[in-house]
Amino acid sequence: SAAARDRLRIAIQKSGRLAEPARALLAACGLSWRESRDRLFCYGETLPVDLLLVRDDDIPGLIADGVCDLGVVGRNVLLEQDGDRRGRGHAPAFREWRSLGFGGCRLALAVPDAWQWDGPQQLAGKRIATSYPALLSQWLAEQGVDAQVVLLSGSVEIAPRLGQAEAICDLVSSGATLVANQLKPVQTLIESEAVLAGPVDKFDDVRGELADLLLRRLDGAMRVRN
Ligand code: ATP
Ligand code: ZN
Repeated sequence: SAAARDRLRIAIQKSGRLAEPARALLAACGLSWRESRDRLFCYGETLPVDLLLVRDDDIPGLIADGVCDLGVVGRNVLLEQDGDRRGRGHAPAFREWRSLGFGGCRLALAVPDAWQWDGPQQLAGKRIATSYPALLSQWLAEQGVDAQVVLLSGSVEIAPRLGQAEAICDLVSSGATLVANQLKPVQTLIESEAVLAGPVDKFDDVRGELADLLLRRLDGAMRVRN
């Protein structure tokens, strides 16, 4: 509900790569919570800062809609959804407040091992499978390359073997998944990591003071880690 504005509500991933590190970092900021039975909501005990446990893809939209105040999400997800919103003529509704130093990966273009890569123009007329259509389209436009973006929600790396696309644009960390699919990374579109996302503008009520306190503690906790 949008009624209670005297508490700060932070969306984090319910399960997955960012779930535990996000909780651990917020706990290192001195936050603690009482968990609800349905594991959707965690009520803040030491500070009026609550957690909402959701899918990472929902986090930017929850901030845009004002359902949550802040969120911990991959920069890749934040930039993709921002690009998508801009493409549909919407004003920016969220932005990166802090980079958090975990969940590192990159959004990369990968082509079959057998290709001799000689630059973006090689993609002209080709199909590229991705779950990041806004970021890929934006990059292709910047390069002046006319390629077809094939939108897949998962298993992007097998698309070339299935004949759905010639190349892919996907998240890479170790690169093992690419190797297993006879692909090689040739171009990085975005260096990503987990970020604290928030609205474009500052809060104009007590949430502003809570957010400032959280940011100070976050910066302290990050300094201790690095
Ligand atoms: P959800 O169920 O919440 O939708 P998901 O399957 O979309 O989960 P995860 O696979 O847990 O998400 O990845 C979450 C984030 O972790 C990614 O958006 C990205 O920022 C980061 N990440 C780091 N390394 C990788 C990687 N090798 N592959 C995918 N994501 C990675
Ligand atoms: Zn997801």
